[in-house]
Parts: sequence; C-alpha cells; structure tokens
Amino acid sequence: MERLAGAGVSPGAGYGPAYVMTGAVPEPAPGARHGGDPAAEAARAEAAMERVAAELEARGEAAGGDAKDVLAAQAMIARDPALSADVTALIGDGTAAERAVFEAFLHYRDILSGIGGYLGARAADLDDIRDRVVAELAGVPMPGLPRAAGRPYVLVARDLAPADTALLSPEIVAAFVTEEGGPTSHTAILARALGVPAVVACAGAASIAPGTPLLVDGDTGVVRVLPSREQVAATLRAARERETVPAVPAAPGATSDGHPVALLANIGGPGDVPSALRHGAEGVGLYRTELLFLDRGQAPSEEEQMAAYREVLTAFPGKTVTVRVLDAGADKPLSFLPPPGREPNPALGRRGLRVLRDHPDVLAAQLRALARAAAGTSAALRVMAPMVATAEEASWFAAACEEAGLTCAGAMIEVPAAALRAADIAAVADFLSVGTNDLAQYAFAADREAGALAALQDPWQPALLDLVAMAAAAGVPCGVCGEAGGDPALGCVLVGLGVSSLSMGARALPWVRAALARHTLEQCRTAAAAARTARTPAEARAAACDHLPGLP
Ligand code: PEP
Ligand code: MG
Repeated sequence: MERLAGAGVSPGAGYGPAYVMTGAVPEPAPGARHGGDPAAEAARAEAAMERVAAELEARGEAAGGDAKDVLAAQAMIARDPALSADVTALIGDGTAAERAVFEAFLHYRDILSGIGGYLGARAADLDDIRDRVVAELAGVPMPGLPRAAGRPYVLVARDLAPADTALLSPEIVAAFVTEEGGPTSHTAILARALGVPAVVACAGAASIAPGTPLLVDGDTGVVRVLPSREQVAATLRAARERETVPAVPAAPGATSDGHPVALLANIGGPGDVPSALRHGAEGVGLYRTELLFLDRGQAPSEEEQMAAYREVLTAFPGKTVTVRVLDAGADKPLSFLPPPGREPNPALGRRGLRVLRDHPDVLAAQLRALARAAAGTSAALRVMAPMVATAEEASWFAAACEEAGLTCAGAMIEVPAAALRAADIAAVADFLSVGTNDLAQYAFAADREAGALAALQDPWQPALLDLVAMAAAAGVPCGVCGEAGGDPALGCVLVGLGVSSLSMGARALPWVRAALARHTLEQCRTAAAAARTARTPAEARAAACDHLPGLP
C-alpha cells in the first residue's frame, strides 16, 4: 500500500477505482495511410462518428436542461453528412481513418474561426467532437470526464478546470485528486460546494494507473493506493463521524454577548440554495454568477439571467442577497467575454471588472436582469464588482448600477491597492466585501492555482489580516466572502477585526455559528490583536486561539 499526501481541500472520504483523466488526445500522424480497403476504413470511421454522436446524446439526456440542447447540437455535428463525405473522400485517397477525421474537422474549424464571433467560438466544440472520434478510432480513453461508470470512481487529474469540476456529482465521483491546484482555487471551492471529498497539490497523483483502488481523505489530504479493506472501513467511518454538525441555536449569527454577525452563504447558482437554507444561511454573501455560464459561447439572454437570479432572491424573502457581477478571466474564462488580445499572465490581466469595462453592454444587460429579478421580491439585493483596484473603478460601477435602478452597489476588496485605499472606495460604495482568496494571491504574489505555493495562500498570514483590518475600518459595512470566513477560529478573528458579516460555503455555517456563539466580541478583538502581532500563520492561529477557548 502506497501513501501519497496533498492538501485536503474538501472534507469527507471517498473510495473507488481511479479514473485517470487524460489530457489532449494526440494528433494522428500526418500522412498516416490505411491498409488498402477504403470501404472498410470508411465504415470504421462512420461507426466511430455514430458511436460518439450516440454517446453525446445519451450524456445530454442524462444531464437534461441546457446541457441536453448543447450536446444534441454536438451529436448533430458528429452525424453531419458533409463532414462524413469529406472523411470518406480522404480515406478514398488512402488516408487512415484517424487522420482523415482529423483533417476533415480541421477544414471546418478553419472556416468557423475565419467567420469569428459566435461561430468562431464554436471551433472549440468541433475540437472536442474530433478528439472523441479520434479517441474512439484509436482505442484510447476519451477526453474529459467519463460518464457514469457503474459505481463511483475517484477522479485523478493533473488539474481540473472549474468548468469540469462544476459537472462532477457526488453520486458518480467518490472523490478527486489532482497533482496541481491550491486550497483556494476555484476547483477546490466548487468541490466543497458539491460535497465531493478532494485532495489537491498531491505529488505523484498523475502517475497513478487507471483502475487502481484509491482511498481519499479530504480532511487530512492523505491518498492511499491499494488500501486494505480495514483501512477503507476505518477512514470512511471516521469521516462520517467528523460530519456530525454541532447543535447550534437557529438564532441569527452573533457573539455570545449579542454582537450580530450576519452568516451568509457563498453560492454558484440556484442549485446551491437548498444546502444554504439547510445550513441556516441568513442570506447570500456571494453569488458567483460567472459559474452559471462557464460553458457558454454566447452571452446569456437577459431573460435567462433574470430567471436564475429571481430563483435565488425568492428563496431569501426579507434577507440580503449579494450578487457579484460576472468575474471572468484567469481560471474562469468566459468565451463571450474575451480579453482584447493574448495575455501573458491572465491573473494579472483583464479580469473581473476590467473585462466588464471592455464589454459594458454585457454588464448593462446583467444589471438590468438583476433589477428585473428583484422587482416584486422582498429580498434586499446588493450588487458588487469583482477585482476593483481603485476608487475610480468602484465609482464607475456604482454609476452603472444606479443607471440600472439598483440602489446598493459594493466593491470587492481583492487587490492590495484597494485594501490600502479602502476608505476612498468606501466613499463611493455602499459596502465592501473582502475576497481573501484573491487578496492573498495578489498580496503574496502567489498564484492560487499553484499547489506548491499554498503556504503563502494561508489566510492566517498576518499581512493578510492587516489588509482585512484596513478594509473593515473604512467606514461602510464590510464582510468577508473568501474562504477565510469559513474557518471557525479565523471567523472570530475577522469579527474582532471589525468585519460585519461572514460568507462561506454552506457546510461551514454551523461551525462558524457555534464558534461565534461561544465567544464575546471582546475575546474576538483580543484574539485578532494577538494574531496581528504574530510573525507567521501558525503563530497567528496559536496566538488567537489562546483567547478563544475551545477552538483548535
Ligand atoms: C475571493 O477572491 O476571495 C473571492 C471570494 O472570489 P473568488 O474566489 O470567486 O475569486
Ligand atoms: Mg476573487
């Protein structure tokens, strides 16, 4: 039995055979020839295209909703008679089926790319279908996520894109393990929201052989290869026991001496609302709207957006719902919001509000959809902008909100410059919300996707606490919606720094509520001051916990 170690980023344990997600399907060799029977080769190609079409259709049926239409359209492409005629013609000239498929798709890809715009963006769909047909012909694993494999499997990948993670379901994926990725990467955040145990930054994961039984502990970050039966039973049992949620009064979040702290949920769409309500969310502190549209080639219509926003607003009558406008770019590219050119470093390029300033029509449509969605509901809608760096940007966003009839406009504090000048931003924003994930990434110049830099991403870093303190003292309500808010002890420290609300993945809510309910505001303040005098994250936690009895 081998033991691998990484960072446990989504709690719970999972056991199953490894499904190793492959990277790109290799390009069939140029000039590859078939054995001399064009009719048989053409029939082989035809059958592969039909199998891929049928598989795409079946996936669509299983997924339902928008995915069904998208996958049905892809199946139609795989069955396209003109494409099939081109493949047959190339095979007639002696080209092997794999290469013929590759070249025929290339031809159509060039045509679409040349047209540009919406059709240009569909070129990537063609690549996916092509790779599937080539994989089918070559007998190699399909790219992307597998369909239900009969029993839950452990997904193993070098890295997973948020767009792939969003499609995972705990019924099919027992756990996932990646070689790359950090604890605050969007992939880790989505895994927590979905309840899929996960370990990232796990050295050696990419060389696990397909089908190998794996036991993944998302709390400790340990991955056991070929575990014993006893080991599996003990780890799964321990994880179930840890899941026992503390019994906390259903009262609104507050310290033991009654200082109110709104405890809100981070959500990625209406699908996350039931869990938020079940875990006692008093509203929504971060609605990551870009997660709704990761797979889109075209901007979603106002109607569609309105429906997705209204569903959430009506679930929280009389409560705060904080919607973040599309935060595109870096690891969450939206193909309908492209940056103006190639960016050498997308995380430092046009993302968040910067992208929306390049596409003001998309922002205006989203704000209109939000205003229409809120009309007639009793939820208190707050709208906020991601990646604000200056007061001028915050002011531009507030004006756009006002134009759409939205009365509460805020700014996320995710860039150190914004934290340093939070008072200037507060002068033009109704509220602030600290995104500690990006704030740590930019303050420490440490990519949040890079597993090897996870220590610099530690939200207990005293420098990060200093920046949060600046935002909290800026003069308008200031919450935290980064992953830091979901750590019970750190939640107390953030409250001690002056933060008025904490927003987190729903599963963390009962733990944070219980921690706050056991400590006074004064204890939180003393703990915060102690943490800020420390030099390292470990010392900061230890110093804070000295003043927060009962917290580890
Ligand atoms: C953050 O950066 O802390 C945040 C909440 O936004 P996201 O994680 O979606 O970038
Ligand atoms: Mg962010």
